[in-house]
Amino acid sequence: MLELSTPVKYVKRIGERIGENLATRGIHTVEDLLYHLPFRYEDRLNPQPISALTPGGMASIIGEVRGSVLLRTRSGPMFEMTLGQGLATVKCIWFHGSYLKDKFKPGQMVAVYGKLESSRTFKAAESSGSLPPALSKFKIIQPQFEILPSAGDPDSEFAMLEIGRIVPVYESLGGTTAWGAKLTSRWMRRILWSILQELPAVPETLPAPMLARLGFPGRLAALRAAHFPEAGTPMYELMSASSPAHRRLIFEELFYLELGLSLKRRKMRERAGTAFTTGSAVRDALKQVLPFHPTAAQKRVLAEIVGDMRRPQPMRRLLQGDVGSGKTIVAMQAALVAIENGYQVALMAPTEILATQHYLSARKLLADAVSPSTAKPYRVTLLTGSLEPAIKRETQGRIMRGEVQLIIGTHALQEEKADFANLGLVIVDEQHRFGVQQRFRLMRKPGADGRVTDPDVLAMTATPIPRTLALTLYGDLDVSVIDEMPPGRTPIVTRRTTEDRVDDVWAFVRKQAGLGRQAYLVYPVIEGSRDDQPELDFAHDPEEPPADPPPKRTAKKAAAKSIRAKTQRPTEKPKLRAAADMYEELRHGALAGLHLGLLHGRQSADEKEVTMARFKRGEIDVLVSTTVIEVGVDVPNATVMVIDHAERFGLAQMHQLRGRVGRGAAKSYCILMTGNRVTEQAEARLNAMIATQNGFELAELDLQQRGPGEFFGTRQTGLPEFRVANLLRDRALLELAKTEAERFSAAPDPALVRTDIDAVWERLKQQWQRRYGLVEA
Ligand code: ADP
Ligand code: MG
Repeated sequence: MLELSTPVKYVKRIGERIGENLATRGIHTVEDLLYHLPFRYEDRLNPQPISALTPGGMASIIGEVRGSVLLRTRSGPMFEMTLGQGLATVKCIWFHGSYLKDKFKPGQMVAVYGKLESSRTFKAAESSGSLPPALSKFKIIQPQFEILPSAGDPDSEFAMLEIGRIVPVYESLGGTTAWGAKLTSRWMRRILWSILQELPAVPETLPAPMLARLGFPGRLAALRAAHFPEAGTPMYELMSASSPAHRRLIFEELFYLELGLSLKRRKMRERAGTAFTTGSAVRDALKQVLPFHPTAAQKRVLAEIVGDMRRPQPMRRLLQGDVGSGKTIVAMQAALVAIENGYQVALMAPTEILATQHYLSARKLLADAVSPSTAKPYRVTLLTGSLEPAIKRETQGRIMRGEVQLIIGTHALQEEKADFANLGLVIVDEQHRFGVQQRFRLMRKPGADGRVTDPDVLAMTATPIPRTLALTLYGDLDVSVIDEMPPGRTPIVTRRTTEDRVDDVWAFVRKQAGLGRQAYLVYPVIEGSRDDQPELDFAHDPEEPPADPPPKRTAKKAAAKSIRAKTQRPTEKPKLRAAADMYEELRHGALAGLHLGLLHGRQSADEKEVTMARFKRGEIDVLVSTTVIEVGVDVPNATVMVIDHAERFGLAQMHQLRGRVGRGAAKSYCILMTGNRVTEQAEARLNAMIATQNGFELAELDLQQRGPGEFFGTRQTGLPEFRVANLLRDRALLELAKTEAERFSAAPDPALVRTDIDAVWERLKQQWQRRYGLVEA
């Protein structure tokens, strides 16, 4: 007898070989198969007549094959099939469609699905007033199709799955059957239909009172209805995965995710942490170092952080604030609270540039300060991977002996040897750069005295995290948001321009430099024109822009071009201007006379440090760089950010880059320079950059464009894989799931009986461990 846990290979018509195929797609059991929901549906009970269709949208049409022909065209063979309903016809076209030559027989019924377009020949004939009767009004390019079963079909047992009902369509699972047929929608339908026929019952996963309260169907009913919807189910509900059946299945998945996250938070609260005190010494210390009046938002988040630090449980807090919102000073204040309590603080930054910058500004901030509790100056040190081994060992020794209080560094802080005397607080700057899995490795390190308390952790990020992701990825953290900018900032003027107007850009940069301002020029790659260099998380556009057309060039530009040509390797891809090459070109060319600097990820730490320091001191007017300057770099006198090949950058990245300017009182500019051909998606990104400076709005758009997996760039993993839920689509259900999960774990519904409650926790343990692997036993 079939059960949910039955391996798929025991299901009729699957067997060993297909079972292996399915396993590669993560489908091992009957349950996995059942949760592979259709991605769309066709209403073959009430098919649309062709006469009622309008071009432009997706259409699902059932008709009879009238004829087909394989045409030879200049771009290869093209297969045409004419589908008819009475007098009305639609032309279906497949490029390179030779393989379809013998597929269709006149008279067969076929269901097609695709984007309906009006036929040009039809329009022309119509306007000339000589409309031949057989001409199709519409065409569909590359439609999906299914030949419908006829009465004499050997498979007519299953005919009722394909006609006269709402038919599920599945994403192909790849693989083939034993006789070489693909694992098509039709195959899935038959398998799932049989399974649902045979499956006696399935264990319910949500308590009955909860289902009743939320108005959700039971589990088996939901699975049945999602695969084989009842006639009359509204098509828009099915297509948007918002039928009661869908909602229940999606809710279930999100509910267990949120319940797991809330459990994780609770567990964390049970662990031992340090209860810092905030007496007058601490208050004096904080006052002493504040270089300006904090904003209301800075005060509020500091209060939230200090509130956590005073509690005897470890803090796990994420501080979100747009670039330039002033997170650093808040972090430094939190650091002082721990230090005045006699603890060490570690501040981790994702890059050496940023760690060094934090180190220098911390030194400056604390230079004249005297610790009220020890009556001595604060001791700050820098620990990065590129330190000389001897110096590194020496620094590690001082950290271990408790001779330094604030330790600023990169990943080197996470190395085994970096033991602390008594680490009380870990601050992770630009947390998203580290990756989720990595984020708390440091906190698990026991102190030198062997105490088992966890340090507090404050993670900071300037990537505004859309709420859907915050609820999933960071659902185990408490969140503070700085939603206000320090006073005196003028909005950054953002402009778009194309590369043929580059001379205007250089003129503008010169003008700003003449005013004593500084500029960044950012390129996607270091040198050459290959885009396989790791400096950039390229925007993921489905279509690459076609290669640039031969540009029209003036004599002057042709000269510039010839310099460029020397430095660029011939390549098939559109040519990219690169930082190192442009640095050479510009300092002898368009920007001659200004002080240029070059910064990129392949330079040594020393080189980078020297260049950054010179830029900070104003000795460099124009910093030619890659995205290494993306995070954290703070030079208030810089007022111009030029991003070349802006069409190649992701939104979050452009936003971060733009955040490097507008940090002082002077008016700042962000210039997005593009090639002449820009994809639709890139166009949307550029327009969004111009339309808003609000990081959260941009983040939402970025999430919509790239999807949750890509949102943080390729380095980021740790997002749960969903079976039925989709974070972009199911936001409302995610909120509901969170509310219900919190309610359940805090104070279960009085209507719930003990066995219900236990069953939910039991299921959480099984499912959660297996699916997300986030909870330790
Ligand atoms: P981010 O949140 O991006 O890390 P920073 O902490 O680097 O931002 O702050 C950006 C700039 O704003 C810095 O130059 C900092 O000194 C300044 N700043 C921060 N808070 C205030 C404030 N309350 N008033 C004036 N300037 C501030
Ligand atoms: Mg910062």
